[in-house]
Amino acid sequence: MSAQTPPPDRAATHRRCRTVAGVRARPRAGRFAVVVATLALTLVACGAEHAAEHPNVLIITLDTLRADRLETYLQDGRDTTPRLDAFAQECIVFENASSNSSFTPPSHASILTGLYPEEHGLTHWSRTLAEVPTAGEMFNEAGYRTFAITPLRTLFTIGLDKGFAETVELPHEEGDGLLLLADAKQINAAALPWLTNFDDQPSFAWLHYYDAHRVYGRQGPEWAGRYGSHPDTAVGSTEAWYQLDPADRQRLGMDAAKAHYMKDRYDGGVAFLDEQLGALLQRLRDTGVLEQTIVVITADHGEVLDEHFEDWFSHDPHLVEENLHVPLLVRLPDARHAGLRIEAMVQGVDLLPTVLELAGISTAERRFSGLSLAALLADPTDDGSATDDKAVQRRPFIFASRRGREPDGPDANPAVIALSRDRRRMVRSQGHKLVHYVDRDSFSLFALPDETENVMDLKPTIFNEMRDGYMRMISNMELADADGGPGLDPVTLQMLCELGYLADCP
Ligand SMILES: [Zn+2]
Repeated sequence: MSAQTPPPDRAATHRRCRTVAGVRARPRAGRFAVVVATLALTLVACGAEHAAEHPNVLIITLDTLRADRLETYLQDGRDTTPRLDAFAQECIVFENASSNSSFTPPSHASILTGLYPEEHGLTHWSRTLAEVPTAGEMFNEAGYRTFAITPLRTLFTIGLDKGFAETVELPHEEGDGLLLLADAKQINAAALPWLTNFDDQPSFAWLHYYDAHRVYGRQGPEWAGRYGSHPDTAVGSTEAWYQLDPADRQRLGMDAAKAHYMKDRYDGGVAFLDEQLGALLQRLRDTGVLEQTIVVITADHGEVLDEHFEDWFSHDPHLVEENLHVPLLVRLPDARHAGLRIEAMVQGVDLLPTVLELAGISTAERRFSGLSLAALLADPTDDGSATDDKAVQRRPFIFASRRGREPDGPDANPAVIALSRDRRRMVRSQGHKLVHYVDRDSFSLFALPDETENVMDLKPTIFNEMRDGYMRMISNMELADADGGPGLDPVTLQMLCELGYLADCP
């Protein structure tokens, strides 16, 4: 764990609180009871004051969680996420939230910068975040304590720790063909002391959970077999079963029964994640933190199970809805607007400008590609016809990209290139999706929800409109100055290899 000295320029609210308290309002063991009691009262008063003006902000990203795993989004009766679904009752639910990439680093970087992947530059494991302002820096400057934790420490290596005053890198274990990253229980244990040991200074935290990611159900037989068992216990137990092309499927004898079991395993991992998230949220509720906090729960991307023949049980290559449609729950203090369901298309880049505005932090000097959704919360009936900047729904398209093949050059890593395949971008309206295969410079148009038939020739008007819109979006982006950093170090390469991200391991 690393820590930095809090910035000297804190918000007026915090200075007022410290003046009233007379001391730092962090009770410690061994003080006289009366002093502790006085401080505790002061703490509550100050906490309420700062919460009213500058609430805490907590962003939780659930790696690889499809929206349709929550009953909140798809009532299939499987009840995989009862705790998240119960929590959603207290939240604003965004029906059509989309990630800005099907890939972990660019999607997270978009959430934490408010910029599209082409703008923040963190488009691949072999890249680093460009010199762009980050959420951690913005909250630091506003006087917040800042904290981030991920079980995938490579994300910090490539720049996603930028601006966070405190970060936690958890150890991982190597098992039998498995790289065992820290699970949700360990994330909770490491994060809760920081989240609940609050004083008069508001906090901003990002918590990243990895439990739904392949290898599905790796938390043990109880979870892997929770929704069904398979006589071949090896099915789905190592990376060899994932990201399968047709030849791999044949080699593994992947039939319908095995594919079904893989999905059951996925749900088992999701259920484990749900149980642990329930524990985290309950602890925040019990300690009073929840009512002083804006909580955002979302995913960096979803997962293709067996819906698309080209790639089973993976998320990296394709910009299909199984990968891009993510849950998005926002709980405001006092559960304001609870039960509100918003149909407008929103995306990962919208989150940072939204939470800044909701936290009362000015964004006047900031440039985001995302739009604040705060106005939409205040007026969810906005149908996009307004001419002022409240019209969040006026945005005709959302955007996502996936970098794909690295350019030739000294930094190019053949293993990464082999995995990456084509570079793709997409824009999506409510009814259609236009995919640009950048390296081939060709397009496909899909009429949602179907994503198998290219209807470009059948719908020329829609195609031309969306292609023009796409070109406008690209031309308006401020592309990252330094598109990436140095090549991957050997340790990172090995970790990516063990996680199944490299076709040819070093
Ligand atoms: Zn991910």
